[in-house]
Amino acid sequence: MTEGMALSRSAATEDERQTIPSTMKAAVYRGIDDVRLEEVPVPEIGPGEILVRVHTCGICGTDLKKIATGSHSAPRIFGHETSGVVASVGEGVRKFSVGDRVVVFHHIPCRECYYCRHKTFAQCATYKKVGCTAGFEPSGGGFAEYVRVMDWIVEKGTVRVPENVSFEQACFVEPVNTCIKGIQTLRLEAGETVLVIGQGPIGLILAVLARQSGASVITSDLYPARLTISKSFGLEHTIDASRGNTVQTIREKTDGRGADAVVLAVGGTSLIRPAMDACRPGGRVLLFAQTVRGEATIDPAAVCVDEKTLLGSYSASVELQEESVQFVMNREMDLERLISHRFPLLDSVEALNRAAHPQPDSMKIVIQPGSAWEGHQL
Ligand SMILES: [Zn+2]
Ligand SMILES: [Zn+2]
Repeated sequence: MTEGMALSRSAATEDERQTIPSTMKAAVYRGIDDVRLEEVPVPEIGPGEILVRVHTCGICGTDLKKIATGSHSAPRIFGHETSGVVASVGEGVRKFSVGDRVVVFHHIPCRECYYCRHKTFAQCATYKKVGCTAGFEPSGGGFAEYVRVMDWIVEKGTVRVPENVSFEQACFVEPVNTCIKGIQTLRLEAGETVLVIGQGPIGLILAVLARQSGASVITSDLYPARLTISKSFGLEHTIDASRGNTVQTIREKTDGRGADAVVLAVGGTSLIRPAMDACRPGGRVLLFAQTVRGEATIDPAAVCVDEKTLLGSYSASVELQEESVQFVMNREMDLERLISHRFPLLDSVEALNRAAHPQPDSMKIVIQPGSAWEGHQL
């Protein structure tokens, strides 16, 4: 054990200190498609910081993209949809104490720079600085037993989880935030028809939020099993894309016009053109899952002549933090039901593999270091 580690624990009482080991298991990204379960030091915390013992961390499409494309240097420990328990607090931390159940955002904008003043928070330099780490270059760190939460995240990006809310439900705060932001970008009006293409967990949350804003929602997916889940959330208008032509069906349902707004919640570029075709003249198309740079084919006249607007939305907004916390903690949607697979941390490599190669029955996949806890029930 290093001197620093001994120091970092000085804030905790004798009892608490004993419960935090010096090393832990973590899923370490070592290069493209190479994640290994390794033994790493438990991170040290400084003044104003907290150490969170991770219970549940959702696997996000962006984690998979980083692992598959090598967009970030190795080694790193990913995972940013993290809920858990405060295991120790650094000097001067007053907002939280050991034992608090929390969910943490991994980045928070400065709210002062040019981009923040123009409300494009995801472009802020401070926002891009990740404030949660389980070691190596800060990258979220949720795929580990413990995560160090830095001071500005403790202040502005750590949220208490009420007693009656599970860690599984709580870990959706960040994805829900990104979805609320996406739906707000569309500026839906009551009575508008929205097509949500893709009914994975994110597409489903987007569809529920669109309906909440008064729109009439139609969902589509290639997997009928997913549409069954959508229906169980009250989204009864579905298009089975494995059997019919989505563009044609949506036109038939809208007097030949197309949807007022289309949300593309499937990655890749092949559905951009159909998404635009399914949109009415003057309507809006939101690209929500196109996170890989490259080129795509669009019909320029669809934008110029038909006046269709192509929109994008990425990442969470600090201004929607409260709203997303309310949505999740008030259980406006039973988000736990979106979880199809739960893996203990020891099987995190398999979990990531599974998430990278979704099957018809895969929805949200989570890694749960907390499954090894004694008496864990939430
Ligand atoms: Zn995410
Ligand atoms: Zn900023």
